[in-house]
Amino acid sequence: MRGSVALPYVRGLSEKIRRTLTSHKINSYFVPQNKLRSHLVHPKDKIKPEDTSGVVYGVPCMNCNLIYIGETGRKLGNRIKEHKKDVEDHMKGVMTRSSRMSQSNITHKSAITDHAIKENHTPNWEAKVLKKEGNINKRGWQEAITIRKTGNNMNRDQGGKWLPHIYDDLLEKLCRKDYDVHSTDVIIEVNCRD
Ligand SMILES: [Zn+2]
Repeated sequence: MRGSVALPYVRGLSEKIRRTLTSHKINSYFVPQNKLRSHLVHPKDKIKPEDTSGVVYGVPCMNCNLIYIGETGRKLGNRIKEHKKDVEDHMKGVMTRSSRMSQSNITHKSAITDHAIKENHTPNWEAKVLKKEGNINKRGWQEAITIRKTGNNMNRDQGGKWLPHIYDDLLEKLCRKDYDVHSTDVIIEVNCRD
């Protein structure tokens, strides 16, 4: 024998390949496809969500089932730090002046800050990467579509792109999503074909 190769197991096909290889004096063995993947892809190759740039992201609330959806071309971790600082700065002001009621009537920088102050809720700063898209224009549309498709978002508007409401029915038919914010597996997809 001249050596051996690992074959992903595909019923009906892998046996034929194996016979051909054997006739060429090459040993082969079958591995399930997911096992092959785990051999080839090392966990250290995975980029952490906070180090990923060019994303549509979600920040779930720890106290209710709403999620904030945004986009950034920069590292997600840096954008999240800004959101966090904004919330903390406003919260400090609220605490020291004991004027949560009057603060809550002001429209803050982002919908996360608004939600945190009005409801006295805490965002989960371990943000989720919902879509990766390097192109700023495409990412804007992805954000608008994600917001429109997500039933339980806390966004005030639909992001930087104006998606006509004529698409609502279509988006609803293609894919209606709710995000399970308290699960590590964030997405519950209903009726999804994309
Ligand atoms: Zn909440």
